[in-house]
Amino acid sequence: MIKTTILDATSENINYCSDLLKHGEVIAMPTETVYGLAANVFDDKAISKIFKIKGRPQDNPLICHISDLDMLDELMMDIHSKIFQKLIEKFWPGPLTIIVPKKASVSNLITANLDTVAIRFPSHNISRTLIEACGFPLAAPSANLSGKPSPTSANHVYDDLNGRVKAILDGGICEVGLESTIIKLDDDLLRVLRPGIISMDMLKEVTENIVLDDSVLNQMGSNSTVISPGTKYKHYSPNADIVLVDSTLDKFKTYVTDKLNEDVWCAVFDDEQKFFDKNVLTFGYNEKDQAHNIFMILRKIDEIGAKKVFFRCPKKENVGLAVYNRLIRAAGFNVVVL
Ligand code: AMP
Ligand code: MG
Repeated sequence: MIKTTILDATSENINYCSDLLKHGEVIAMPTETVYGLAANVFDDKAISKIFKIKGRPQDNPLICHISDLDMLDELMMDIHSKIFQKLIEKFWPGPLTIIVPKKASVSNLITANLDTVAIRFPSHNISRTLIEACGFPLAAPSANLSGKPSPTSANHVYDDLNGRVKAILDGGICEVGLESTIIKLDDDLLRVLRPGIISMDMLKEVTENIVLDDSVLNQMGSNSTVISPGTKYKHYSPNADIVLVDSTLDKFKTYVTDKLNEDVWCAVFDDEQKFFDKNVLTFGYNEKDQAHNIFMILRKIDEIGAKKVFFRCPKKENVGLAVYNRLIRAAGFNVVVL
């Protein structure tokens, strides 16, 4: 078994991790969204380790992380798109992943045989410094076991991957707490495949020609062909059953109060805690807080040993849409509408 060490992000340790990456190892790194499990984009052996460590299905492609726009050249075809230029000027570095036609140098392992590649330029200092020290882009999915909630602290990564990776660079708690917004550019149409902290409204400032992909709000069958393969898998799930209750606060109270016991909890917004005298968790006041806290709460549910948790339903707009997207998956689409 590999000994796993959590390392402070000193320049010495960042250099140590870049050496590991240059030698085909996989390490975990912080980003502003969630922690990533990183390997050299151009090393197929290292990339296949990512899939093995996470237990990730081979048909779920990885996002490539860059630290400099010059790195785009080795990953994507020149697409001469004004929209693409505007998007990267406005949102990079930051939590936006853009799917574009790939260069042949990007292996089919990364893209799961698609002819496109997902690219992100993180704003987090540690991941950027690490990529710069490597000199090559890093492919990095979230650093959790496949199916589990994404990790937003070094300890979350350790809980899932202890014994499977050599090093976890510690960058504290991730600022955003939710994975990046993923968009695909089809000529000038912008398709949102995964909502995130960069909302539809923010993207509309670049173009009005924008659609929300069906997979964001609907369950896709495991045999269906979907544009973003990751969306068809069970995701973000604690061991406990999650039920999302789409209702007013009053109806929520009536529905759950008699059901609460030592195994059954509820998760509500911060200012609503006072209405419940036991077994209540809170996951944020506004949508941004909810995004920041949601994965932490989903992991806490297993720590306290709850068997079932009823969740208040976040707003389905702006950042709330991203929280809702993760919660319906955590709940296995078990949504009660009252
Ligand atoms: P994760 O790395 O866990 O944040 O998941 C990455 C997500 O990006 C998954 O949902 C993938 O399906 C999606 N993705 C990566 N590359 C592509 C691509 N070329 N086309 C469509 N979706 C992609
Ligand atoms: Mg993931």
